[in-house]
Amino acid sequence: MSIRVNHLTKLYGRQRALDNVSLDIHPGEVVGLLGPNGAGKSTLMKIITCFIPPTEGEVSVCGHDIFEESIRVREKVGYLPENNPLYLEMYVREYLEFVAGIHKIRGNVKGRVKEMIELTGLTLEQRKKIGALSKGYRQRVGLAQALIHDPEVLILDEPTSGLDPNQIQEIRGLIRTIGAEKTVMLSTHIMQEVEAICDRAVIIHKGRIIADDATRNLTASAGSKNLVTVEFSGKVTRDDLANIKEISKITQKQPNIWVVETDTQTDIREALFKLAVSKGASILSLSREELRLEEVFQILTRD
Ligand code: ADP
Ligand code: MG
Repeated sequence: MSIRVNHLTKLYGRQRALDNVSLDIHPGEVVGLLGPNGAGKSTLMKIITCFIPPTEGEVSVCGHDIFEESIRVREKVGYLPENNPLYLEMYVREYLEFVAGIHKIRGNVKGRVKEMIELTGLTLEQRKKIGALSKGYRQRVGLAQALIHDPEVLILDEPTSGLDPNQIQEIRGLIRTIGAEKTVMLSTHIMQEVEAICDRAVIIHKGRIIADDATRNLTASAGSKNLVTVEFSGKVTRDDLANIKEISKITQKQPNIWVVETDTQTDIREALFKLAVSKGASILSLSREELRLEEVFQILTRD
C-alpha cells in the first residue's frame, strides 16, 4: 500500500479537524481529495508528510510508519504545500540544487536538477529569480522540488489554486504526466479538477470522509451535468437552442447570452457553432462552467 491511514483523528485544541479518517491508497493511483475550505485536507496532508503529528490513529507511507520511520517516509514522499512557499530571492536552479542538498541526493546533482527543469518545463526560466516568475511557473518550481528525490508518492495541496485558466491546464497536464509514474494525492475544491486528473475521488467534509469512489461513479451518482454559457452576435432564439437534442435546460441571461445544460458528457460546443453558422450569427464567447463541489455536496448530503 502506498498510503495507509487508519482511524486518524486530529484535534486543534477542542476543534476536531479530522475525525476518525481511514483511507488506503494503492501504488499508481491518482486520488483527488475534495472538500471545501476547512474540511481538513491540508491537515491530512501535513500528517502524511510528517509535518504535524496526529492526535490519534496510524499512518504509514510505503509501509513506513510516520512516527517510527519518519525519515524513510520523507524519502518516499514529495510534497507541494498549500500556497507553495518558496525562497523568492533564490534563482530557480540554485533553489533546486539547495533542495537536492537537503535530500542528500548523491551523484550527479546538477544532472538531476537539469532533468527536473526539463520535465517541468522550466528550461527558459531556470536562470531567473523565483520572485520574478509568474504563479504558474512558481508552481512548476514547486513540482520540481517535490520530485527531485524521485519519491514514490506525491502529495499536492491545491496545486492549481490561484492560477489563470491557461496555467491551470498546463499544471493539470503536468500532473497527469507525472501521475503515470507515481502515486499521487492532490487536494482541490473543484470537482472538474478531479475529473480531469484523478482515477478516484475522496470527498472530505468537516473532517470526515463522506464519499470515496472512482471519479466516474461519483460524478454519475451526483448527476453529472455540463453547463455552457454562450454569447451570440445575432438573433438565436430559445427554440433554435431547443432543437439541439443534447440540451436539457436553457436559461436566458441577457438578450444574446444563454446558459445551456446537458446531462451527458457530450461536448455541446460544436453543435452551438453549427447553430450559429446556420443562423448567420457568430459566437462572441463560449465558456464551460465548472461543476462546483458544493453542488455535488448538496446532492451527496441530501436526505
Ligand atoms: P482545508 O485544507 O480543507 O481547507 P485545513 O486542514 O486547513 O482544511 O483545516 C481544517 C480545520 O482545522 C479548519 O477549521 C481550520 O481552521 C483548522 N485548523 C487548521 N490548522 C490549524 C491550526 N494550526 N490551529 C488551529 N486550527 C487549525
Ligand atoms: Mg487547505
